Amino acid sequence: MQLATTPKDLTNLALFRGESPDTLEWLLDYAEQKNVNAGEVLLAPGETNEHLLLILDGSVRIQLEPNDEKVLAHLQAGQCIGEMSIIEHEKVSAYAIADTDCKLLKIEGTILWSLINRSHAIACNLLFILSSRVRKNNHMVIESLNQQRIYEEFSKIDVLTNLHNRRWLDETMDGIIDRCRINSEPLSVVMIDVDHFKKYNDENGHLAGDMALRAVSNSIQEFLRPNDGAARFGGEEFVILLPNTNLKSAKIVAERLRSGVSSTSIFDSNNSALPGVTVSVGVTSMEPNQSVEELLASADSALYRAKNSGRDCVVLC
Ligand code: GH3
Ligand code: MG
Ligand code: MG
Repeated sequence: MQLATTPKDLTNLALFRGESPDTLEWLLDYAEQKNVNAGEVLLAPGETNEHLLLILDGSVRIQLEPNDEKVLAHLQAGQCIGEMSIIEHEKVSAYAIADTDCKLLKIEGTILWSLINRSHAIACNLLFILSSRVRKNNHMVIESLNQQRIYEEFSKIDVLTNLHNRRWLDETMDGIIDRCRINSEPLSVVMIDVDHFKKYNDENGHLAGDMALRAVSNSIQEFLRPNDGAARFGGEEFVILLPNTNLKSAKIVAERLRSGVSSTSIFDSNNSALPGVTVSVGVTSMEPNQSVEELLASADSALYRAKNSGRDCVVLC
């Protein structure tokens, strides 16, 4: 590894761009050059740090845990480490580990401050380095927030049917009700339950039952408009929210859905035909001042009456 001992070598580094050789000569008198081996920990969280470490040669990785696979950044020659803890007088917040054998220039905090005070160029360069680091960190935060959003969305999807799950319904229904009330729009709720599904499972097996649930949810999805929402409410029960839909229109949707399900063919994973299923459907429309629980209870009581009326039918509340 070649030594970067001359002021000329330093002028090529981002921190010293535009700086006079005199200042850099002065710096070299006060800074310590240091060789470190690959794998050496240069900074660790919680430590008090008094130095800026400028990478003259090699590469350093930044990570939150010593054995973490996730590396936050790879810093190359010309970049520096430890400047934040010097400027803010805060403890080190992440591990800096030599990725390769490295040559470093170790600049004491007080020397860094005198450099900043005496050199406009170095102050500007440092500002630029810090600003691009903040920008990179912002990108990372945005990426991780997006990832979190995706996980959250996934946690509201039912894996078997691909419809929303109960959690989605619990978190969304209040908002949908409020929006309909504010816009003085009707809101209808359709509750669906597969008929004699226990018997279906007993006679055809649980996997066939799963395929039947998928077929029912596919039928439900076919009837949805963009603003409608459907969720798997429980085992073989589904709820559909129909904003801007009155009871009369909701009945038409429910009837089409019931008839669509009863004529849907179901196949197992080998593409062999399975027996079809039917559904019973309860439909209700939101009353003024009705709570989420009351609205769902009203749809459930209509569904209960559909079951008592012989199943495979639609009953309005
Ligand atoms: P009813 O017509 O009165 O609704 O009768 P039912 O047999 O459909 O109702 P019951 O509540 O007695 O049985 C529901 C069945 O649904 C029992 C349960 O094993 C089945 N089930 C619930 N979740 C799933 C699932 O994810 N997959 C399968 N295959 N079956 C399920
Ligand atoms: Mg049920
Ligand atoms: Mg059932």
